[in-house]
Amino acid sequence: MDRKGILVVVSGFSGSGKGTIMKELLRRYDNYALSISATTRSPREGEEDGREYFFKTREEFEKMIAEDALIEHASYVGNYYGTPRAYVEQQLALGKDVILEIEIQGALQIKKRFPDTLLLFISPPDARTLKERLVGRGTESMEVIESRLARAAEEAEGIESYDYFIINDDLEICVEQVHQMIKGEHSRVSRSLELIHEIRTELKEFQKG
Ligand code: ADP
Ligand code: 5GP
Repeated sequence: MDRKGILVVVSGFSGSGKGTIMKELLRRYDNYALSISATTRSPREGEEDGREYFFKTREEFEKMIAEDALIEHASYVGNYYGTPRAYVEQQLALGKDVILEIEIQGALQIKKRFPDTLLLFISPPDARTLKERLVGRGTESMEVIESRLARAAEEAEGIESYDYFIINDDLEICVEQVHQMIKGEHSRVSRSLELIHEIRTELKEFQKG
């Protein structure tokens, strides 16, 4: 993969505020590209095909898997979710930092496949706040909310696989933290090996006089 931009995975319990944070990040900065996933879940009120998700039937989704059109996919509370390959590759090549807002199984697949991915985990300050946010969002039935909370308990077991754990209490602070972490990632030594090599060569030229 031609990769000038950084691949960033953002995970977090359902209701932790990932969607809200991503929306704000994209509004403020233009170096980010947010991948739009395919899913078999039904659209929520106000969601549009091709904007929040590409809404697919199970057959269509399974065809995408068979054609290797997804760079990862997973099942989440009874539905498939997956990341289309083409957009991610194209945006990374353009130098954009590409954000995948995906759950933990997908995050681990991405890390295995692309080890220099930055993995961020977003959490509410405590479990009670999570439930309040899920209920307050008003987009799911109590039954689905309970399933999502049960899934959150499972996901909490995998947080150590991530690079950073970010608390979404004050939205403003959280958005800036995410932005700074991605910016910082660009300065990692392993991402500048070519430039480091060039500088070494130039310095050696000085020594020759
Ligand atoms: P996710 O995408 O992780 O499922 P959402 O972005 O939909 O979560 O956020 C869940 C609910 O919590 C939404 O109603 C959102 O407005 C609210 N929310 C998000 N961040 C905060 C915050 N920092 N403080 C208070 N409420 C928040
Ligand atoms: P929701 O139904 O609330 O939009 O998303 C449910 C969960 O699926 C969230 O944790 C979200 O991050 C995750 N998700 C969204 N898109 C993808 C994807 O393409 N792949 C994977 N593995 N998870 C995804």
